[in-house]
Amino acid sequence: MGGINIYLDIDGVLNRYGPVRRGRTGADPVDPDEDEWSAYTSAGGVLMWPPEMMARINRLLAAPEVTPYWLTTWESEAAVFGEQVGLEGSADWTWLPSRGLSADGRWQKFASIRDHVDQTDPIFAVWLDDDLAHESEARRWARRSGRVLAFAPEPMVGLRPSELARIEELVAEALRTGRSPMAGRALRIPGGGRRRTARGD
Ligand SMILES: [Mg+2]
Repeated sequence: MGGINIYLDIDGVLNRYGPVRRGRTGADPVDPDEDEWSAYTSAGGVLMWPPEMMARINRLLAAPEVTPYWLTTWESEAAVFGEQVGLEGSADWTWLPSRGLSADGRWQKFASIRDHVDQTDPIFAVWLDDDLAHESEARRWARRSGRVLAFAPEPMVGLRPSELARIEELVAEALRTGRSPMAGRALRIPGGGRRRTARGD
């Protein structure tokens, strides 16, 4: 009770869908102004993740008040991904049902998180899922909750450094104050420099 919950999707958030830009020569370092990670690791031809992001998520989750949950169609297989990319302790994280539709015909992830937030009663929660970009009902629920920040990264890029930095700030504020940083104010995570459309309202 009263903790901070972090709900993580994998594909389009931690695992980017798009290719990594390597510059014209194929070997240029990524321009830091692009708000992308400086290095990525790949595996199996389908996974592409930045080790620096995983290290920062590990630090974010190190506070005992912060609890991560898998909210991804990988479901129980998410543990395999977590181990692959170096998310500490992820084999033991709880995963929530995420595939298909719930009994009442709604997006299963949305049904799962609503129930879970009711049950665990966090002071603040962060929900990262690229599919939130076209799930307005879920975004509205999160905004009205006053304590669930729902954010949709650009799936071809995944979570950007500036977006994770904003989440780190908000979690730190919640830890410091013991309150939701959303209380009484509308929060937005500013998109990356190359963002063409605003998402995650
Ligand atoms: Mg996804």
